[in-house]
This record gives sequence, C-alpha cells and structure tokens, in this order.
Amino acid sequence: MSDIQHNLERIRTEIPEEVTLVAVSKTKPVEELMQAYNAGQRVFGENKIQEMTEKWEQMPKDIQWHMIGHVQTNKVKYMAEFVDLIHAVDSLKLLKEIDKQAKKHDRIISCLIQIKIAEEDSKFGLSDEDAIALLASEEVKSLTHIQIKGLMGMATFTNNEQQIKSEFGGIKRLFDQLQPEYPNLTTLSIGMSADHAIAIASGSTMVRIGSSIFGARNYH
Ligand SMILES: *Cc1c(COP(=O)(O)O)cnc(C)c1O
Repeated sequence: MSDIQHNLERIRTEIPEEVTLVAVSKTKPVEELMQAYNAGQRVFGENKIQEMTEKWEQMPKDIQWHMIGHVQTNKVKYMAEFVDLIHAVDSLKLLKEIDKQAKKHDRIISCLIQIKIAEEDSKFGLSDEDAIALLASEEVKSLTHIQIKGLMGMATFTNNEQQIKSEFGGIKRLFDQLQPEYPNLTTLSIGMSADHAIAIASGSTMVRIGSSIFGARNYH
C-alpha cells in the first residue's frame, strides 16, 4: 500500500462517516491523485481553476471536483461545465457570474459562502453581517442556476487551540442561526490537516485535507 493510501485510511478513521472528506490535491501530480482515487477517494479539492481543469480532463469522470480557492470572476467559465462545489464565494458579482455560466451548461452549481473568521487580513471572506445580507438579497434569490449549500471558513494559522476553537465556534453559530431560514444550508466546510479535529468537534460537515494525505507541498 502506498503512503497516500495509508494516509487516507488513517484519516478516514479520524473523521465521522457523515463528514465529507475533500482530498486537497493542489500542486500534486495526477499519478498521486490516482493513488487516492484507487483507494476509493472521489472528492478532490483544488485552488487553481486551470490546474483543476487539466486534472479533470485527465482523470475518471466520477470524481467530484471542488474549487476551494479564491475565484476570479473571469475564470468561472473554465470550470462551469464540471465543478461540483465552489467553496469560497464572497460576492454578489461572483454569484451572478457562476449563475450565468451554469445556465450555459444547463446546470445548477452548488456554492458555499466564505466567512472571514481569521484575524489575519490576508484571508478572504465576508463578515457575518455581509453574508446575512447577501443571502437575504432579492438578487441572490432570483438566481436560478446556483444553489447556496452552506458556509466555509479558514481559521488563523496558529498553534493556539483556543483561538481556533473560538473562530470555528463563531462560524458554527452563524450556520445555526441561518439554517432555520435557509434549509438548503447543510454544509459547514471547516477544518484542514492541522485543525480538522477541532473543526469536527465544532460541527464541521466537510473537511479539506491536503498535506496529511499527499505530504507537504513545495509551493502554494
Ligand atoms: C490548501 C488548502 C487546504 C488544505 O490544507 P492542508 O493544510 O494541506 O490540509 C484547505 N483549504 C484551503 C482553502 C486550502 O487552500
């Protein structure tokens, strides 16, 4: 058994069955993704549209491709035919473009709203207030080719577990607050290699794990 298959088996024992494991394969070659595929993995996450598209072309068609990175509006068209879930939506403009491109392919594309939960300035995402306003806007409700399925967040990169807990706790509270009004919100995408245990304890339904499966990356 390869390291990748071994890592996958170990991680599967660490996460509950009802939590979706997104194997984050950015920067890794198709041969390594295929090792995960052959071990049964069918959900892969990438953060660059071009790289994801090239892998989609080369790999089996029963894979669900998740775009987990920041999305530039002008690149949505390249993934609209096949992307399964876009994690990091943070503007009306982007939602409208996803809707427009999905329509061309006669699809409904699932999206998550990225919430800014980390202290660092560099992280993308909306404030709670802006996310609430976006969901409530008539313009968003009128878009027929997108479905907003939940929220996504990235905690601060820190060893301070209390801080990570508090950041995940914040997005979980927002998720619980929104759910009664928006029953389609069923996905809470929080947790990466270093913090997935805290994320799962905080109510994650989807973890995005890269380096613990595929090993360290040389570049981002
Ligand atoms: C790279 C990346 C991950 C996975 O990170 P690891 O620490 O390698 O598990 C998860 N989410 C996003 C948004 C990423 O860009």
